[in-house]
Amino acid sequence: MTFEQLQLSQPLLNAIRHQGYIEPTPIQQQAIPHLLEKQDLIGCAQTGTGKTAAFALPILQLLSQSRAKQVRALILTPTRELAIQILECFQSYGENLPLRAAAIFGGVGQEPQVTALQRGVDVLIATPGRLCDLMQQGYVKLDRLEIFVLDEADRMLDMGFLRDVKKVLAALPKQRQTLLFSATMPREIESLARTMLHEPVTVKVNPVTDTATAVQQSVYLIDKKNKKYLLQEILKRGITSALVFTRTKYGANDVVKDLAKAGIEAMAIHGNKSQTARQTALSSFKSGKIKVLVATDIAARGIDVPELSHVINYELPNEPETYIHRVGRTGRAGLGGIAISFCDYDELDYLKDIEKLIGKTIPRETSKWPMEILQKTVKQPRTAPSSVRRRTAAASGEVHAAKRSAPRRQPSVVKSRPVEKRQRRRP
Ligand code: AMP
Repeated sequence: MTFEQLQLSQPLLNAIRHQGYIEPTPIQQQAIPHLLEKQDLIGCAQTGTGKTAAFALPILQLLSQSRAKQVRALILTPTRELAIQILECFQSYGENLPLRAAAIFGGVGQEPQVTALQRGVDVLIATPGRLCDLMQQGYVKLDRLEIFVLDEADRMLDMGFLRDVKKVLAALPKQRQTLLFSATMPREIESLARTMLHEPVTVKVNPVTDTATAVQQSVYLIDKKNKKYLLQEILKRGITSALVFTRTKYGANDVVKDLAKAGIEAMAIHGNKSQTARQTALSSFKSGKIKVLVATDIAARGIDVPELSHVINYELPNEPETYIHRVGRTGRAGLGGIAISFCDYDELDYLKDIEKLIGKTIPRETSKWPMEILQKTVKQPRTAPSSVRRRTAAASGEVHAAKRSAPRRQPSVVKSRPVEKRQRRRP
């Protein structure tokens, strides 16, 4: 199938050619005809399948048929990086059209975003928090909205955005075209879909259990302390670009420091970094100025680097679906890619879950640093453990009183929650 056969207008076809796309990807082939017919749609697709163009191209075509200086298409997406990336897609695909797009997201001052809104925007790409803020301040009017896209709906749910999403939905005109994209369909998303969509068509490509087929995967069983040496060795093999994943922000910073000591320049991208630092890191990586970007999951979600050659899981994710999202960063749009994972003894259970989800065993690689520590790490609590506190209390005959009077959630308990649990919310 060709893009011409999808009945796309000449300005769009020219922009597509400019992007170097030869033929539409499966999701584009399946979704575009329905969207041009103004139908509602549920798309089960992960990033890397070409889903942004699958909705951006028909939206641009439909909006270019009339003019209005108001938001007519809204794309809600969970992270600022994704918002920027989607904006860039709209700008590239719409380069020959007189339409304006803008992105609004938190973590930066609102003034430039407000100015862009005041100038008039046809397509607005937004993260939920900032959108709700600007709606409340009266800067965003959605009463002329024609098309609403809820992107990465499952991530929205994971990140606790469901309430904001419902607030936005309540402000939209009832008469509209609605698109929902999600890599997985948990029950909450299905019921949300039922309330917000009207007789939707469903389009499924690459369900989340299907890791990018073009990606060559392998895993090293290794002790935690040796991961830094293995990483350096792999990076020195002459890699074009590698996205290195850690579970935590602190882990990401440590990897960057260790690489710097070994003379390898890398930058980190995670939730503790300012928006400017994140953008600098991302653009240095995309332009090839640095070859290694170290990231946590949510910060890296949807990062689109077309030529990304390697994904390295320095730490395995504790949610198996995350492995698929990470691996999907390489081998995009049919290009080959390599995904290498490091697994220490504590992570063997995560590896088992991942292999169960993807339905295959990831080939084992050997290195100079085989796994030697064959027991789980005993986590050292920062404060005296509760057993010690109880023993002390028992010695003074206070144990029952201490138990009864203890507040339900003591600060020390909150502090000693495993880092990865806290990470899941805000990487
Ligand atoms: P997405 O799933 O939207 O994040 O897209 C993943 C990557 O595929 C992006 O780098 C797009 O530029 C690229 N892409 C989208 N559509 C096509 C296509 N038809 N042919 C080749 N690459 C594409």
